[in-house]
Amino acid sequence: MSSSIPETTASSPLTVLIVGGGLSGLTLAHELTALNQSTSPNGSYKHLKWHLVESQNYLGGRIKNTSSRIDMGGAWIWPFQFKMHTLIRDLDLKMIRQEEEDDGRVRIHNGAACIIDGLANRLKKEFVTLEASVTAVEKVGNIVKVTLNHSVDGPATEQRIIYTKQLIWTAPPRMALSSHITWTPPLSHSKISAQQQSNTWMSSVTKVIFGYSEKHWNVTWLRGMRRGIFEYNRFRGGEVFDLYDSSIISSSSSDDDSNIYAFTVFALVEWNRYNKNESRVSDDETIARRIFDELLSIQSSTIQSSTRIPEYTSFTVHHWSQISSISDNPFPNSVGNHPHPNPVLSQPEWKCNEDERYMIYFAGTESDLHSPGLMEGAVGSAYRVMDELRLNHK
Ligand SMILES: Cc1cc2nc3c(=O)[nH]c(=O)nc-3n(C[C@H](O)[C@H](O)[C@H](O)COP(=O)(O)OP(=O)(O)OC[C@H]3O[C@@H](n4cnc5c(N)ncnc54)[C@H](O)[C@@H]3O)c2cc1C
Repeated sequence: MSSSIPETTASSPLTVLIVGGGLSGLTLAHELTALNQSTSPNGSYKHLKWHLVESQNYLGGRIKNTSSRIDMGGAWIWPFQFKMHTLIRDLDLKMIRQEEEDDGRVRIHNGAACIIDGLANRLKKEFVTLEASVTAVEKVGNIVKVTLNHSVDGPATEQRIIYTKQLIWTAPPRMALSSHITWTPPLSHSKISAQQQSNTWMSSVTKVIFGYSEKHWNVTWLRGMRRGIFEYNRFRGGEVFDLYDSSIISSSSSDDDSNIYAFTVFALVEWNRYNKNESRVSDDETIARRIFDELLSIQSSTIQSSTRIPEYTSFTVHHWSQISSISDNPFPNSVGNHPHPNPVLSQPEWKCNEDERYMIYFAGTESDLHSPGLMEGAVGSAYRVMDELRLNHK
């Protein structure tokens, strides 16, 4: 899905520009589409013009699948996450129970990216532009002038301008501070300080997926390994910090997709062990090998059962820290704490001189007041901003 940037002027601006095409941005896009089709008491929603820009060449942000339908980013949904469960039901997606866990968490059959595809398929193509990165946001009277770098042909980019009455920032809070974005006038001191302190959840993590032609492990092995990893990490230090079964096994004969046998490892790569200038492919091979060797050593020191894991037949490595629109530190050395709700991250900025409405709103999971960091928070923060916008349009 990729289309052209809308033509706007200061006298004919968009109503809303969404920055970021992750789960939060797409939830907003979906809600704005619904709002456009609804009737407000004074008909003000009818002519609502909106657009979404995403800096990567794909939608989904921290939710992404491998080509074999396994999650590289967000995966688990817990029983108490009602917004996610409602969304999954609405999109008619199947769930897989995470058997080695006893807290009822599930994954999406064929990957969480099915949520993204489900939301994206409901949008009209012309409302979304990929490979368009916001580089400057400026208050010009009662309008927001947004400058974008838009990829036109491979690495070549052109600068484009969008005028909008309101902008919704859904990218990680820290990314608003990145050196290639300017805000004129600057955001409030309290906002900048909260953004500086925020941790983009899981953006330091590397996921390594080991694939097999059949399943060589069971719940006992998985639980034993998880305990072993915890002990190993605590006493000896290591790159691996968790592991789970990411197999996809069809539950009914009507599924046409083939079964996949894999487990996924969460790792915090010790970057100083590798030559950062080496080509990515050889690095990833080395990293996968090291991670697997670490697992073998944990297995031999902690697992009593006769299950022994054989060599993998395929691997996929995904470093979230190296996605420049998600992480501002390509070589992190800690995962950081799980985000706590911070109301400052959710507060709108820049009051319009004409009326009392704000011009800049903040969604995105880290700005959520209930489940920051999680997919539930990405959706929840989008609903919060929708309520704020509805109040503006009363
Ligand atoms: C390895 C990993 C495991 C995880 N596991 C779980 C889990 O099991 N359960 C769970 O609930 N959550 C999990 N999460 C977290 C979950 O994935 C996120 O909470 C959620 O996807 C965030 O969605 P978002 O839309 O708020 O932000 P993002 O997904 O970060 O989307 C923001 C988007 O903004 C774009 N962007 C940034 N800057 C710009 C710019 N200047 N211009 C235009 N676009 C820009 C980015 O490219 C990105 O697409 C995990 C995350 C990772 C990385």
